[in-house]
Amino acid sequence: MDLPVDEWKSYILQKWSLLPKSIRDTICSAETSSDIFLHSSSLLQPEDEVFLKELSRGYLVGKDPDAPLFYREEGNKKFQEKDYVGATVLYTKGVSHSRPNTEDISLCYANRSAALFRLGQYEACLKDISRAQMHGSPERLQLKMMLRKAECLVTLGRLQEASQIIRDLESNFTDRQTLAASQFQILQSTLCRLKSKVQEKETPTGTLPAALTTDFEDMNLREENERISCASSSITLCTDPSKGRSLIATRDILPGELLVKEDAFVSVLNPGEMPPLRASLESKWDTRVTNGDLYCHRCLKHTLAPVPCDGCSYAKYCSQECMQQAWGLYHRVECPLGGLLLTLGVFCHVALRATLLARREDVGKVTRTLCDEISNWDIRSPESKNLVRTLGHDLGGEREKNGETVEPPIPGCDSNGKYESNYNAVLHLLPHTQNHGPEHKFLCALSVAALCRQLEAATLQTRTTSLKSSQPEAVVVPATSQELFSWGVAMLRHMLQLQCNAQAITTLQQTGSKESIVTDSRQVRLATGIFPVVSLLNHSCSPNTSVSFVGTAASARASRRIGKGQEVLHCYGPHESRMGVAERQQKLKAQYFFDCSCSACQEGTRRAAGPRWEAFRCPRCGELMQGGDVLSCGSASCTESASRDHLVSRVQDLQQQVGKAQKLLRNGKRERAIQLLLGCQHDAESFLSAEHSLVGEIQDVLAQAYAELEDWQKSATHLQKSLRGVEARHGPSSVEMGHELFKLAQIFFNGFAVPEALNTIQKAEKVLLVHYGPWNDEIQQLQEMKSCLLDLPPAPEGPFV
Ligand SMILES: [Zn+2]
Ligand SMILES: [Zn+2]
Ligand SMILES: [Zn+2]
Ligand SMILES: [Zn+2]
Repeated sequence: MDLPVDEWKSYILQKWSLLPKSIRDTICSAETSSDIFLHSSSLLQPEDEVFLKELSRGYLVGKDPDAPLFYREEGNKKFQEKDYVGATVLYTKGVSHSRPNTEDISLCYANRSAALFRLGQYEACLKDISRAQMHGSPERLQLKMMLRKAECLVTLGRLQEASQIIRDLESNFTDRQTLAASQFQILQSTLCRLKSKVQEKETPTGTLPAALTTDFEDMNLREENERISCASSSITLCTDPSKGRSLIATRDILPGELLVKEDAFVSVLNPGEMPPLRASLESKWDTRVTNGDLYCHRCLKHTLAPVPCDGCSYAKYCSQECMQQAWGLYHRVECPLGGLLLTLGVFCHVALRATLLARREDVGKVTRTLCDEISNWDIRSPESKNLVRTLGHDLGGEREKNGETVEPPIPGCDSNGKYESNYNAVLHLLPHTQNHGPEHKFLCALSVAALCRQLEAATLQTRTTSLKSSQPEAVVVPATSQELFSWGVAMLRHMLQLQCNAQAITTLQQTGSKESIVTDSRQVRLATGIFPVVSLLNHSCSPNTSVSFVGTAASARASRRIGKGQEVLHCYGPHESRMGVAERQQKLKAQYFFDCSCSACQEGTRRAAGPRWEAFRCPRCGELMQGGDVLSCGSASCTESASRDHLVSRVQDLQQQVGKAQKLLRNGKRERAIQLLLGCQHDAESFLSAEHSLVGEIQDVLAQAYAELEDWQKSATHLQKSLRGVEARHGPSSVEMGHELFKLAQIFFNGFAVPEALNTIQKAEKVLLVHYGPWNDEIQQLQEMKSCLLDLPPAPEGPFV
């Protein structure tokens, strides 16, 4: 997904292996992005481009005139089955394949408005109704749509508008002979009902319930840092030759404090696992739900009612405004390149968009020099003064101030020493040119070269058609071949930077069946972005911050106390609670090119025994087992021993059983699932430690099964056992613990166990606030539960009493 598709990868690797050794040597010894690009891009042959074009054609990114009808019919099927979300997504796909001002688009919007109405999304429904009308909805639908509009307006309490529509309906339709008698009757009774609803709403019925009061004080940085944009004044930027840049606490920081809040400089929505629908006729159109169907292509906001780009079927937006902004900023260039960008992968796409955004940001004197001068960059010494000078910043006068020597600025900072979330900072992120393998660099360079050629061709086309070029913020595209070369170099640099500096923008998606009352969630990757300020955080396998996202904005909060002078650290992925030291070290070295020496790694290499969540225990005395291939009981008075292979295969068997139980649960066979799981539990407890992750998983699934049976008490008992394992493994204030507490709160809430629920809600809130701040969905739900419980009349007996 990040890198180009496998076919193109192996094609390029083949090409690489056939190159004369002298050329390969030249590329291997090239030390700057500019040299790599110079020596590689000229090797791109027309037949390579033909091959790539063929691959790109496998993606359905244009508008297929036959698709809207197919999707509308599929959507109607879902609608009949009362799966309104499923229907909405299929109508969206229909909309995105329709041309503007056609009956197709109008019908898809009209049908989507019906599904949104059923989902209670009245605002979105109203928008779709007016979109359907704007694109010229057929006369036969007018009546239906106006009635739906009136219903929405009444429900939303917009009574004046509703009354107006009712009056229009009365004057337009009730006297018309065109309506069949039955239709006429339905209309009359609906109008009657709507009118009485309006009347009912017009008479005030006491005060409205007070809105939920949420404590939003933590939404923004308490005090913004003067030297680092988007950062709190509690941290400062330092640099030293061995570690590079780092962020250090300037005062004691408490858990939950917001340290960085930054909007992505650039972000690209992840298309999701979406293999091209090549040559498979029975699935010409894709009915699977992807990120692109549910999230805005620009701002990443979740939406069930997106509007598509007029020119392609893959870019969809939360609103007309987002669409226009994206068009002006980058999509005008990207629109015709959809298939190519999907083939070349997300990193290449991010690289292109970053370059497009840079052009806009620094239209003045800075960028032109920036991009042209990159070709002269010496990447071996990114901190050299030379570099700063080539960037065109005037430092001469500032070298000495009041007789004192001023430190050379930290890379990425401007001439005043301020670090900002801008293109200058992006350019200074390290590309690690010397660490990447030559084949990888060759792949990136040829991919970028191919993109440049397409860009050149497409640019000419856009120039001549020049759709919306009158807009002031319209994207700037390279005009000369010299400029195009600089673009290529910049894009290659970004591609090489991304391996270490790409930030996965994640979101929590609710999992489990739609009917289940207790929801679970998992983190899914939504997009890939570059955040220059967040990138300043160095890695630790046992970090002291937690990074979360709302749309394209990242927030980093302290997840534990950070003492003054300590470094602020973030985990790049390999967390100590998820994998052992050796695996972490190997992963970090392979992707980020460094040997981790964080406190957890130092501690881990000292301690030979594995973690408790992987430990076995003695079947005879219950003590933990120790050792390598042959384990023996830790108790001195016990002689029990076992082979590791044997124990591991028992774990695998158990895992299989649990998988089977989950499948039974999905098929509604709850009792059988519970029987199976109770057996697993018995078995697991006989040889695994109480904190073993599998023991926790079994308890978790049991809790879910009992929740589905609405046996809240049993569900809570099992979840509390699972909680113990999560606490041992991830720590009492970890985000994992927060999610588990959230589930427990839902179970107590559903079982009307008021004191237990309130107590758990408080604990869950405390943990989740530290990681996510108050905007989080789960925190909002917890607060709703709390206010609901506090309003409850004292229940004499609940199922827990
Ligand atoms: Zn948007
Ligand atoms: Zn488009
Ligand atoms: Zn480490
Ligand atoms: Zn023993």
